[in-house]
Amino acid sequence: MTVTTRFAPAPTGRLHVGNIRTALHNWLWARKNGGRFILRLDDTDAERSTVENAEAIVADLAWLGLAPDETFRQSDRFDRYDAALERLLSAGRVYPAYETAQELDLKRKVLLGRGKPPVYDRAALSLTADHVAKLEAEGRRPHWRFKLDHDAAIEWHDLIRGPQQFDPALLSDPVIRREDGRWLYMLPSTVDDIEMGVTHVVRGEDHVTNTALQIQMFEALGAAPPAFAHEALLVGSEGKLSKRLGSLGVEAMREAGIEPAALVSKLARIGTSLPVEPVTTIAPLIESFDFASFGRAPARFDMEELAALNARIVHQLDHGAVKDRIPPGMGEEAWAVIRPNLQRLAEAADWWHIVEGPVTHRAAEDDRAFLALAAEIAGGIDWSEAPWKALTGALKQRSGRSGKALFLPLRQALTGRDSGPEMAPLLALIGKEQSVARLRAAAA
Ligand code: GLU
Repeated sequence: MTVTTRFAPAPTGRLHVGNIRTALHNWLWARKNGGRFILRLDDTDAERSTVENAEAIVADLAWLGLAPDETFRQSDRFDRYDAALERLLSAGRVYPAYETAQELDLKRKVLLGRGKPPVYDRAALSLTADHVAKLEAEGRRPHWRFKLDHDAAIEWHDLIRGPQQFDPALLSDPVIRREDGRWLYMLPSTVDDIEMGVTHVVRGEDHVTNTALQIQMFEALGAAPPAFAHEALLVGSEGKLSKRLGSLGVEAMREAGIEPAALVSKLARIGTSLPVEPVTTIAPLIESFDFASFGRAPARFDMEELAALNARIVHQLDHGAVKDRIPPGMGEEAWAVIRPNLQRLAEAADWWHIVEGPVTHRAAEDDRAFLALAAEIAGGIDWSEAPWKALTGALKQRSGRSGKALFLPLRQALTGRDSGPEMAPLLALIGKEQSVARLRAAAA
């Protein structure tokens, strides 16, 4: 049996860190087992699903390096859901119900008022044919409910949460299709999981109750349920389910200069007992992926921590991996010098300006003679090896300066800034002619 996972977003919006994490875990588990990773677009809600969102989801997954092996759209598969409904109807596992949303709401309130769980009372099951005819004559159309089997507890061993048990009598028979014919999520998802051979359903713990209901649907359709892993949800750094997280997607990451590898490194391990480490190749994350390492507590996602991890990722990127995204002309040597100073790759362009110039800096009065001397020395030393050492060595002797008084004016004159990359390799990149010119200009 090929391990098959699926990521099943509704294309009613863009992906955010929470569902990117779910996608990643499904992908990692499939890869770890040499299996298949399916993207299933849950677009049964034609009003809220858009083609733009579906395309954006595909593009976002590609950016993350999580391309699916296969993609399905639920809107292409309505005939399958109709067929499943027919089967369940003839097996007596689906029934029509006519209550309006207001009527159902009232029932719920009455039960809650009596301190009882707000479980649907199955009144629709005792409607007489006359009553149904009357409702239909009034223009009411039925919605459809799946009839839970109340005989035995629903049980499964969750790969993250351990043994789970639900009493079906405490659950409402789920509505699977609306009166206007629109499908709700529950049955189509089960039908697809069966037909696509899904072996592992990995999703957020907000779906735990759905799983209890769907396990009965799998069984009613004659299929063995897959394995389930429900992960604790992601919360913001303040410890709450935050709105901000819901809008933190690939676009926001790109804007913040976050590399896909940083986001993947973070989301692979956040909420697990394994350390979050900056990894630029996915192999170690595949290798170490293990449901047993997942904790039950909500995982905290912090953008600042991600930015710090991102810097550590950037410091590891090879020239070959970035050459299309850094300024043209910035070769391997220059990249090696500049890389350790970057928080974000885009800052490379900034540093490249320092190398390429123009740099304009006018030194303070006190430093001008010193810098004129520096220009003179720089013009005379051998640039083929260690020019920074030669320049600062000679300057120290002739000016009597040392420490900050020696180094800071040089850095300022040569780069226009107070801090930055190590000067020795940077000076070699700037070159003799430019260096002498900048020192002279600052001294003028
Ligand atoms: N479309 C559902 C959601 O986004 C899928 C849940 C599932 O993985 O089954 O919540």
